[in-house]
Amino acid sequence: MKSQQEAGKLPHPAHRLVTWYKQAHRQLPWRNTKDPYRILVSETMLQQTRVETVIPYYHAFLERFPDISSLAAAEEDEVLKQWQGLGYYSRARNLKKAAEVVVSQHGGVMPDTIESLLSLPGVGPYTAGAVASIAFDKPAPAVDGNVLRVIARFCGIVDPIDTLAAKRKVTEIVSQWGMEEQPSLFTQSIMELGATVCTPRSPKCDVCPLKEDCVAYLTGQTDVLPLKTPKKPRKIIRVIAFWLENEQGILLEKRPNHGLLAGMWQLPSVETDWKDGDQKNTGEVHETNLLVPDAELDSGSGSKLGPKLGSKLDAELDSQLVRLVTMPRGAEQVTTSRAAEEKLRSYVLVGEEKHIFTHIEWRVQVFRPVGINLSQVEFAPDREMMFVQRAEIRQYVLPRVYEKIIGSILGERVR
Ligand code: SF4
Repeated sequence: MKSQQEAGKLPHPAHRLVTWYKQAHRQLPWRNTKDPYRILVSETMLQQTRVETVIPYYHAFLERFPDISSLAAAEEDEVLKQWQGLGYYSRARNLKKAAEVVVSQHGGVMPDTIESLLSLPGVGPYTAGAVASIAFDKPAPAVDGNVLRVIARFCGIVDPIDTLAAKRKVTEIVSQWGMEEQPSLFTQSIMELGATVCTPRSPKCDVCPLKEDCVAYLTGQTDVLPLKTPKKPRKIIRVIAFWLENEQGILLEKRPNHGLLAGMWQLPSVETDWKDGDQKNTGEVHETNLLVPDAELDSGSGSKLGPKLGSKLDAELDSQLVRLVTMPRGAEQVTTSRAAEEKLRSYVLVGEEKHIFTHIEWRVQVFRPVGINLSQVEFAPDREMMFVQRAEIRQYVLPRVYEKIIGSILGERVR
């Protein structure tokens, strides 16, 4: 196959890619611009996120922050609000920090060299290569998962694609190919091929401009390549969250300003390791678990609340709840006689949701204490908390999993 290309029977792969791209590419909002800020925004949003999901966010973000100066000047919370639902929030924080650096160190003008781009927060080799090649037409390799897959298949690379060795090989090849064509078109063409033709499953080799000399295609390995290092199983974290609501609103807490979902708001929560059997103890989510006022528990039938959680789980929830809030002396009295009789039923499960991050899985369960007077709770000193009225929750930046769970508990979309 190389011999065909070397003998001049086939144009260089880069030429074939660009020829194909010119007539087959999708019309996407970031395709018709050379504005490096817009390209940086689109490339940042597209990391780990599907094109269809990104498009509305891209438009809304640029409407609110039309240039790098407006992003640099914005409050971080406002940027996170625009990003809400897109996930991987460190991208938004870094994008804002990068804008601040461009304003403070580059006079508000996006730098055009790989070295300067790499010095911006959140900008790695892929994004730097994409901005340099697409916006500034510099021959810089931009190697993402799509490009790794295309080259691994085309060249028959058998090193697992997530290893440094494979990435180096692919980067070297892409750098060479990029010298053969206009960098802007070449970068976009190979990305587009990976996204639309050389897809992870069932690549459309019959319409691929590289099929004549693609190793994977010619040797029947398109469903084998690229190889990947086997993944370790994700760690499962049990998140016990509490629905604590009184006349001042629903209690929310702010996550720490570093780490996962930094600075976002959630229901007061405690994270523990997931143990087999946790699920069995939790009872069921009943629609009425949240909606039945404590006062009605005296007159209604016990079935409204769903099954008992069991004393072991109640005791565990008690011990977790006191890590978040405490009641002053006298405030902890039960509010209904039925709750007093059924001392063991002191919590009900009002919602549950699973959320998968790259390395961990959260299993969030929301419990509401029943029969406890919440009017005088005191917050744990190491937590930042506040009561928020139901109608105002949408003004706070919530992780997607809490947005979903609160929305389903309230029977409405929070966002
Ligand atoms: S021929 Fe098939 S496997 Fe090879 S690059 Fe094209 S789409 Fe991918």
